[in-house]
Amino acid sequence: MSEKPEIVIQLKNVRKVYPMGDEKIVALDDVNLEFHKGKIYCLLGVSGSGKSTLLNIIAGLEKPTKGEIVFKGHNIHKMNEKKLASFRQRYIGFVFQQYNLMPTLSALENTTLPLIFRKVPKRVRNQKARKMLKAVGLGKRLRNKPSQMSGGQQQRVSIARAFVNDPQVVFAAESTGNLDTKTTKEMMDLILGMAKTHNQTLILVTHNLELSRYCDHVIHIRDGKIEKIEDVADKIEVGAEEETEERPEGDINE
Ligand code: ADP
Ligand code: MG
Repeated sequence: MSEKPEIVIQLKNVRKVYPMGDEKIVALDDVNLEFHKGKIYCLLGVSGSGKSTLLNIIAGLEKPTKGEIVFKGHNIHKMNEKKLASFRQRYIGFVFQQYNLMPTLSALENTTLPLIFRKVPKRVRNQKARKMLKAVGLGKRLRNKPSQMSGGQQQRVSIARAFVNDPQVVFAAESTGNLDTKTTKEMMDLILGMAKTHNQTLILVTHNLELSRYCDHVIHIRDGKIEKIEDVADKIEVGAEEETEERPEGDINE
């Protein structure tokens, strides 16, 4: 008997129109989607197809022109900015392409940021952040500032920060676009492994077909419309592939 999947996010008839002078740009056109707990989704489409708009709307960073977004039972399209901010802190983790780390803060301090916003006591914050940094292979880089780390290491800090809060949903937007193929694969393994371990929903936004092979479901978007949703049967299992070299913790060369 298969269990009924838990719906984490539901979009109903979502439309987004940007006014541009006398013109209107329809960025999203009647989008209906469901995201389930513990599943990995890939949002795939060419530049201008509406990926960022969709992501921003799901994360409550933008309001739809029409339609509803229900996130863990909350109607987020109705929330005001203040509510949205605390909602994001509680439920969502982001892995950004440019890492978005604070340059003056150490790896440890950067990782504790989401916990500071949630008023977690300092001792607990540091404990959790240290554990996360260890999990991403940076146990020996706690005191390093972003400028004292490689691109791959900075990306690892941003992954630690995205997951430190145990979010329900993690968004990764073209997050490996700046890295070489090998590092990209390591980052994907890391992100996917973490999401799977904690039964979180992961939404990857990409125009890279290669990355879609890691996902449970590929959502194809085109001209603001969901073209098709593909269930990936022969997806690459995390860590199940080719050589995985042992490396000393934190010693990452690229
Ligand atoms: P993608 O992320 O897939 O490249 P976007 O969601 O950024 O696509 O954009 C979808 C469409 O909406 C594009 O035609 C884009 O030009 C337009 N668009 C996005 N943001 C704005 C905006 N703030 N104002 C006007 N048009 C926008
Ligand atoms: Mg985009």
